[in-house]
Amino acid sequence: MKERPGITVLGATGSIGVSTLDVIRRNSDRYRVVALTANQDVDRLVAQCLEHRPEFAVMADEDAAEQLQGRLHEQAPDIEVMSGLEALVKVAGLENVDCVMAGIVGAAGLLPTVEAAKSGKRVLLANKEALVMSGSLFMQQVQAGGAELLPVDSEHNAIFQCMPQGFLAGSGQPEGVVKILLTASGGPFRTTALDQLSDITPEQACRHPNWDMGRKISVDSATMMNKGLELIEACWLFSVPESMLQVLIHPQSVIHSMVQYRDGSVLAQLGNPDMRTPIAHSLAWPERIDAGVDVLDMLKTARLDFEPPDLQRFPCLRLAQEAWRAGGTASAVLNAANEVAVHAFLEGRINFTSIPGVIESTLAEVTLRDADSFDVILEEDALARACANEMIAARQRKRANV
Ligand code: NAD
Ligand code: MG
Repeated sequence: MKERPGITVLGATGSIGVSTLDVIRRNSDRYRVVALTANQDVDRLVAQCLEHRPEFAVMADEDAAEQLQGRLHEQAPDIEVMSGLEALVKVAGLENVDCVMAGIVGAAGLLPTVEAAKSGKRVLLANKEALVMSGSLFMQQVQAGGAELLPVDSEHNAIFQCMPQGFLAGSGQPEGVVKILLTASGGPFRTTALDQLSDITPEQACRHPNWDMGRKISVDSATMMNKGLELIEACWLFSVPESMLQVLIHPQSVIHSMVQYRDGSVLAQLGNPDMRTPIAHSLAWPERIDAGVDVLDMLKTARLDFEPPDLQRFPCLRLAQEAWRAGGTASAVLNAANEVAVHAFLEGRINFTSIPGVIESTLAEVTLRDADSFDVILEEDALARACANEMIAARQRKRANV
């Protein structure tokens, strides 16, 4: 009997990781977990290790890894515990791993995700920041390594499902496609009065109307930076110019995106907003497996609304478009400044409405370069972080003096 495909789940304790393990649990006759990784959440990783019995468990944080080791020592001494970035990279490229879920949030996921691509794995890409930072180089690694890059982001997974047969990310521009309609819910503040946006709390920003996600991507959805990152992600995955993409606000999040063809056909993928659908799709592609997701009841859905995005309400979407057009390291700088600004907002150091300002000033300040190596990208990422932190500190000083 053929051995079940081995899977590494990077970011196992997060929203994507937990959904991935749920799909694997429902299909345990088909898949086996080889490695699980997390940053600091020892309790959750212990529980996941005891259930899924991986060969390796990695914590980015060293102290957390020590605690994990102590906790697993009695109950699962056969699981090898490791720590740090090098270990994350290692388990993404193990020989007995066939498929890697890239479910780490932010730039921290770049190197392990690149390793999975380089090693020719099936890469289930949730970590959009990795592709936004390093698009061209990342796609080169996918090709060179012979990896299969399958989008997990619900919109990109929907687009992939609507693409011509035989199309794979990195295989050139899709035949006959004239437009990609990238849908967006508009987040929790789509209709909030503009003068109230500055008082929004992190809790309000993280309460998404349709999706239950990690805190960073929830804030990105509220500012619509998420759609900006997704626009860049789509340009790389589907080899299309930005002019072929149209962002559409669709508040019900039932249509997850659409593809328009030369002959007038528009193909859409619909479903309940549950990430287990795109996760199951990318895991099993081209087959279909049970994801534990309820079927969509069209009679209950009834209305499907669409409207254009309002760039005055959502300046982050404009900033992402500008960064994409600027090219080079601009998208990496955008991403880094956004990560720093969102973190500062979640910690109560800046207002919700200061997020785009911090990103825009950082983009204006940092000298852009050609994105011709991962080292250059990581250097620019670090520079942009330092710059954004300085902008935030300056804002705080100014606020304290008034
Ligand atoms: P999350 O915050 O819930 O989980 C993040 C995971 O990454 C956790 O397991 C955490 O331990 C790990 N992690 C965080 N920092 C780390 C570090 N420095 N080193 C190593 N590991 C680290 O986030 P999420 O919502 O699951 O999102 C994960 C990724 O998937 C993001 O890139 C996000 O944009 C993307 N995504 C998420 C959703 C969703 O519904 N949650 C949908 C589409 C795309
Ligand atoms: Mg998405």
